[in-house]
Amino acid sequence: MKYKRILLKLSGEALMGEQQYGIDSNRLIQYAEEIKEVAALGVEVAVVIGGGNIFRGVQAEQVGLDRVQGDYMGMLATVINSMALQSALEKLGVYTRLLSGINIQQVCEPYIRRRAVRHLEKGRVVIFGAGTGNPYFTTDSAASLRAIEIEADVVLKGTRVDGIYSADPEKDPNAVFYSQISFKDVFEQGLNVMDMTAFTLCKENDLPIIVFDMNTQGNLKRLVQGERVGTLVSMDDLGETLKETVDQMQSGPKGDKK
Ligand code: UDP
Repeated sequence: MKYKRILLKLSGEALMGEQQYGIDSNRLIQYAEEIKEVAALGVEVAVVIGGGNIFRGVQAEQVGLDRVQGDYMGMLATVINSMALQSALEKLGVYTRLLSGINIQQVCEPYIRRRAVRHLEKGRVVIFGAGTGNPYFTTDSAASLRAIEIEADVVLKGTRVDGIYSADPEKDPNAVFYSQISFKDVFEQGLNVMDMTAFTLCKENDLPIIVFDMNTQGNLKRLVQGERVGTLVSMDDLGETLKETVDQMQSGPKGDKK
């Protein structure tokens, strides 16, 4: 296996599937199956799920509620999603533990780093709920933070797109797909990989990020087995080589952008 211990970040929105709100059970089962597959390979899997399908802190401000209150509501939303994933995994026979950044002792364990690591060593899938436990953060930041704490090899950011482009491919026909890019270039080009707090945490701790399409079946497994899937963001500065490739691709024929 290319990676021994991974942290998988899934957005709450992805859990909605085609719905406008809440959890799409088919999507949930699909994610659980993908996670089961990689855990069965012996990879230690930790998961952070967002809460955007239920509530985001910024929504509170829009309706005149207190922002901090809204952020806690968002964190509780992530616990709901985490509980759903835990249940889906257990139905498939996967051993799991849910550790929360906010104490909710009737439903999950409190987050204790050493305990999280122990669970992983025992082969349990560890789900981190309630983000960082602090307002004004996102679950991307929680993913970076927990990944560093548990010494994960990589943060895998599962999204609906296949990776990072030089521009929004839906708006810009000249957008170029990057299979690899450095932290520095992401920063300099102002690309949106994660929010700045989350991104900086990874950068400063030399923790690679892979952005990939989680909705394509088998992608997660291919990734941990070392196949090139999605975009790898790391310290490696491709510098001029990358820029030249991008230039060449941009001047190449249409439909040959990837
Ligand atoms: N949140 C927070 N602190 C954290 C993580 C999350 O306050 O450490 C709140 C924040 O309001 C956020 C919401 O929980 O908007 C849901 O998380 P996020 O928006 O990251 O979910 P996603 O976009 O991945 O679905």
